[in-house]
Amino acid sequence: MVKEEKEYSRVMELESRKLATDVNRDEVIRTQKQVGNQNDIIAENIQSKLKRNNIKSFDFVGAIGAGKTFLLERLSEKLVPENNVLVICGDITTRVDADRIQKKEADTIQINTGRECALNAYHIDKIIKNVELQKYNIVFVENVGNLICPSEFILGMDKRITVVSTTEGEWVIEKHPLLFKMSDIAIINKIDLAERLGTNIDKMIADAKKINPNIKVVLTSAKTGEGVDELMREMGL
Ligand code: MG
Repeated sequence: MVKEEKEYSRVMELESRKLATDVNRDEVIRTQKQVGNQNDIIAENIQSKLKRNNIKSFDFVGAIGAGKTFLLERLSEKLVPENNVLVICGDITTRVDADRIQKKEADTIQINTGRECALNAYHIDKIIKNVELQKYNIVFVENVGNLICPSEFILGMDKRITVVSTTEGEWVIEKHPLLFKMSDIAIINKIDLAERLGTNIDKMIADAKKINPNIKVVLTSAKTGEGVDELMREMGL
């Protein structure tokens, strides 16, 4: 390491120590707890509102490119028009996903979160207050593409579904225990590519079950449509 670099990292270390004083750290923890508690209260209200309207609700979480939107397109193809489906799509900036799902005749609402890396109950509450819930019997939420931030916020849906794909590597479940602990269903998508990639799906299934013995694991290929019927059964649709 050259001299200036050494100096720079020393200063950064001092800075971070200064920031980590007991007072500052306690303040950050207190604020985070308050936000978390508020979020949980709002999520509970959302859940009871949806229940009052006999709506089944699901929150899809997963990394960018895992196949959340594609799976929601497949589900919409099967569910519309017999069901009235609303899909709330979270994204940092675009309407790409909502436009894709809209083509499958489901109603869509896009939330652009700006710098936030996950949807929270405040976002969903705003939407729920402004739509005619009586019009729908199924609500899907597609969270912002991310496997870490969504574990901080529940959204008040009946079930949380986490989507991973064979392209993310066989360690992806093991590395995100918090998310799988709070999920009801784990989808392993892109199984059509598993053989070519040499992904060990059995390990992924075993990891999910080890983290959360109650989790249901469904293997899908949104591309070929494989596993979508089984997914619907596990979702109670
Ligand atoms: Mg998407």
